[in-house]
Amino acid sequence: HTKSPRTIANHTEALQEVMNYLLDTENQIIESPSDIKAVGHRVVHGGEMFKDSVLIDDDVTAAIEQAFDLAPLHNPPNLRGIQAAQKNLPDIPHVAVFDTAFHHSLPNKAFLYGIPNRLYRRYKIRKYGFHGTSHYFVSRQYYKETGKKAQDTKVITCHLGNGASIAAVDGGKSVDTSMGFTPLSGLVMGTRSGDIDPSILFYLIEKEELTLANVHALLNRHSGLLGVSGYASDMRDLIEEADNGDRRCQQAIDLFCYKIKQYIGSYIATMNGCDAIIFTAGIGENSPLIRQESLAEMDYLGIEVDEEKNNNAERGTVQKISTNSSKTDVFVIPTNEELVIAIDTAKIAMAADQSPWV
Ligand code: ADP
Repeated sequence: HTKSPRTIANHTEALQEVMNYLLDTENQIIESPSDIKAVGHRVVHGGEMFKDSVLIDDDVTAAIEQAFDLAPLHNPPNLRGIQAAQKNLPDIPHVAVFDTAFHHSLPNKAFLYGIPNRLYRRYKIRKYGFHGTSHYFVSRQYYKETGKKAQDTKVITCHLGNGASIAAVDGGKSVDTSMGFTPLSGLVMGTRSGDIDPSILFYLIEKEELTLANVHALLNRHSGLLGVSGYASDMRDLIEEADNGDRRCQQAIDLFCYKIKQYIGSYIATMNGCDAIIFTAGIGENSPLIRQESLAEMDYLGIEVDEEKNNNAERGTVQKISTNSSKTDVFVIPTNEELVIAIDTAKIAMAADQSPWV
């Protein structure tokens, strides 16, 4: 992981740099571009179209473009990345893996908002959910680890990074998740507000004469842990300052954990039970404090964290941190979105291209 900062004009040039790095004999990664048999692309928003990963063709490209409106910050650069990679590696399959796909199984009552139905029909305003590859991966790791069958199992997966979301996974399928139409809703995040009363916006637009761009920046970049603490978006910094006695940093941590606890409680109700709660991503994998606080005082629901196991959980491995008497298992499971993308890509590319290449 060496860093070599430089100015790069566009995605095509950036991909060329990546190719140079991969081909550099010192790095010993690949010997020739022909060693690359397929490219997998993470695409944030698949709209309502994609419930699985797909081989990218003109129709798929057009559908990603159609979802520009839904994810203006993510889909346009995603598509530029795809086109740049196709330019660099034109003769091999390219596969799109969507962050929304795993949540395609949400039932109507979980994805509809309480607004006029014509807005759903006309603009597809509904909950989509994100971090799908991560929720998918850690739930599968849990089945593998415990030997439980997906169809008989109810799990709640907590992906807690800079962006954070929780999913209810019943019978192997996502049945609800905390992010919504965009990745702004749900939990309090590093710089995103998560759920707020929408009337706050009308009020603020009037009081502070905010423009649309101001409101967008306020909720996406200046809110969340950063906004509440007035200090930092990074959980490590907040924990350190809270330890030094900073009250607002402590409030930001408390709010973060409280929202997690509330979502977990609501998803236990959604699924009428829960076999396991899984923590993953930067905060979920690394912070015993946040795991402990989020699950504190939930013994009524049968959730008991073993303090010692939680504090001593070895990083980078699957760890069970609940007590033996806990009705619900609590696990820390490192996520691996890249692996999901690689496996999906290999499967789809092999199916598309019959020539043996592995
Ligand atoms: P992204 O969503 O950008 O991929 P990550 O999953 O890498 O983010 O998570 C980043 C978050 O993880 C940051 O808030 C960071 O402070 C937090 N984090 C990493 N290590 C620790 C730790 N040891 N204790 C608490 N938080 C941590």
